[in-house]
Amino acid sequence: MLDSTIKSQLAEYLKLLDNDLEIIVSVGDDEKSKEMQEFLNDVASLTPKITLKAGVLSRTPSFKINQKNKEFGVEFAGIPTGHEFNSLVLALLQVGGRTPKLEPEIIKQIQSIEGKLHFTSYISLTCQNCPDVVQALNMMSVLNPNISHTMVDGAVFTEEAEEKDVFAVPTVFLNDEFFSSGRISIEEILEKLGKDTTVDVTEPFDVLIIGGGPAGASAAIYSARKGVKTGVVAERIGGQVLDTQGIENLISVGKTDGSSLANTLENNMKYNGVTIIKGTKVDKVTKTDDLFELTLTNNTIVKTKTIIVATGAD
Ligand SMILES: Cc1cc2nc3c(=O)[nH]c(=O)nc-3n(C[C@H](O)[C@H](O)[C@H](O)COP(=O)(O)OP(=O)(O)OC[C@H]3O[C@@H](n4cnc5c(N)ncnc54)[C@H](O)[C@@H]3O)c2cc1C
Repeated sequence: MLDSTIKSQLAEYLKLLDNDLEIIVSVGDDEKSKEMQEFLNDVASLTPKITLKAGVLSRTPSFKINQKNKEFGVEFAGIPTGHEFNSLVLALLQVGGRTPKLEPEIIKQIQSIEGKLHFTSYISLTCQNCPDVVQALNMMSVLNPNISHTMVDGAVFTEEAEEKDVFAVPTVFLNDEFFSSGRISIEEILEKLGKDTTVDVTEPFDVLIIGGGPAGASAAIYSARKGVKTGVVAERIGGQVLDTQGIENLISVGKTDGSSLANTLENNMKYNGVTIIKGTKVDKVTKTDDLFELTLTNNTIVKTKTIIVATGAD
């Protein structure tokens, strides 16, 4: 089922597994179950660190990724190919012991969540915004044993999706109640759960950029590289890039998609030490004697010596 190029790429990634994995596979006699079994056989054939074990999960076909002697809450009800293939690779590596690439503060917030939370995300394999949501919920499940997540392919579990009135993907349910529809970041999930994800902005910035699209990210990286204290406020890191499917006119890459480019912009800003304040907007700007004072829609006040406006078409 997996072609030889994908197999050799995946085999390379699987060399990074720190622990042995056991995948619990819940399959029946239907065609989709056969496909899933074949897919997982292919994955397991690439490393001795993965074994498959037949089991019964709440949906068939589905599978759950555990460490050999430790249960985790990461389940896939559907074959994660297409845009979800990366979600599978990351889930295997993270359940296998690789720490998710998140800010230490965000990891702390996730680990402090108490009470059992089970997320179900309804996705489609062609949806561009779904992998980020699936990956965010999987990371949360890996980091906190109170949290579990099942990705459900709406094209396989059509009746269930209809019963739940899922009209758009991704749609997320928490403990069987509607939670969110559309792209949502890990910070926004935490905020909806009542966690405080605000970054420390007590000290004024030298340069504050309003907007986190390509223009804002470029301005931020260039400012930070000059050694000045730089921050970015943006509702969405990536801006219009997030609404873009195939991008083919960047001279440094053959082809990319909006979600990957937005992640690269965010990672490059972090790498260069830019403070990112996202999921909120600048509502008001006032000028004091030597500083600008920006009031954000989440009521945070941020001070800065200079402002660069890069709000794109908004
Ligand atoms: C569907 C589509 C496909 C495209 N395809 C391509 C392509 O293939 N190749 C190409 O070169 N270009 C493409 N473009 C155009 C490209 O995406 C834009 O030119 C580019 O994103 C503009 O970058 P920007 O940083 O100026 O603004 P934007 O990307 O618009 O970013 C604006 C930023 O400002 C933030 N913002 C706005 N108001 C506030 C506020 N008050 N407070 C805080 N933050 C705020 C937003 O959240 C966002 O982060 C496409 C655009 C679209 C819509």
